[in-house]
Amino acid sequence: MAETCSRSFDESLLSGYLDDALTQGDAQRVRIHLEDCSSCHTLVVDMKRIRKATMTTPFTSPADEQWDERPQGTGSRSAFTLGWLVLIIWGVGVIGFALGHAWAGPQTWIERLILFGGGSGIALVFLSVLIDRLKNRKTDRYREVEK
Ligand SMILES: [Zn+2]
Repeated sequence: MAETCSRSFDESLLSGYLDDALTQGDAQRVRIHLEDCSSCHTLVVDMKRIRKATMTTPFTSPADEQWDERPQGTGSRSAFTLGWLVLIIWGVGVIGFALGHAWAGPQTWIERLILFGGGSGIALVFLSVLIDRLKNRKTDRYREVEK
């Protein structure tokens, strides 16, 4: 069998054929040609295989990675969460102490400004971290459901 291709259409029609994106007439033309032409048939089979690989990779590989990382990731993640929890409790304690101290003591307005300003700044940072943690937990849960 001669490997000469007498195809009268562009190669893009072959990928269009794979995508089911052709008109009935074009699809028919490609199908008939593929029956006769082994080189184009091989090309389409290769294209199909590549397409299948690129289409399934994003779905399977993240799941596999997650599976691999889960056992070793859980410990460090809960330690991370615990660390932040301790820091938040510590921060709230320090802020509470500082505020109480500032309120009770005979400080000048500058000292109060520094304590309250710093205190509320730290509180906001902790709050943002807490919100981030809650958000992350939500996405984690979402990922597990998705899997
Ligand atoms: Zn051909």
